[in-house]
Amino acid sequence: MSDLRELYQELILDHGKHPRNFGAPEHADREAKGHNPLCGDRLTVYLVLDGDRIVDARFDGAGCAISTASASLMTETLKGRTLAEAEQIFAKFHDLVTGGRSHLDDPELEKLEVFAGVSEFPVRVKCATLAWHTLKAATEASSDAVSTE
Ligand code: ZN
Repeated sequence: MSDLRELYQELILDHGKHPRNFGAPEHADREAKGHNPLCGDRLTVYLVLDGDRIVDARFDGAGCAISTASASLMTETLKGRTLAEAEQIFAKFHDLVTGGRSHLDDPELEKLEVFAGVSEFPVRVKCATLAWHTLKAATEASSDAVSTE
C-alpha cells in the first residue's frame, strides 16, 4: 500500500511540475476562470468543442502542485468525452476526494484515483476540485469567475 501511495504521489508531483495541456488554445469555445483563495490557486480552463464533444481541453494559471496536477489529469481525461460525460466524471471525482465510496469503474479514469488520499486533508480538497468546478462553469457557459468559497 505504501508503494502504491508513493506511486500516486509521484504522479501528482510529475503532473504538478510538468502539467499536460498547459496553455490557452488558439480558439476556445468555452472558458472559465477559477480561484481558490484558501491556497491562492488560480486557473483558467479552456474547451474546444465539436457539438457537445470535447475535442481539446487545456488550462493555464498558477497554483500548488495538487491543483496543477488535478487540472493536468482532468484535461487528459476529458478529451473525447461529451459534456454530459464530463459532468458525470466530475461527480465521481468529487465523491472520491471527499471520501465517498463510489468506484471509478471506467478504466480510463483510474489515474484520477491518485487523488483519493486528498480526502484526508480537507483543505486540499479545494485544490483538487478547483479545475473541476471551473470546468463546470465553462460547460455551463458562465462567464463569472468561480471561487471555492
Ligand atoms: Zn492549492
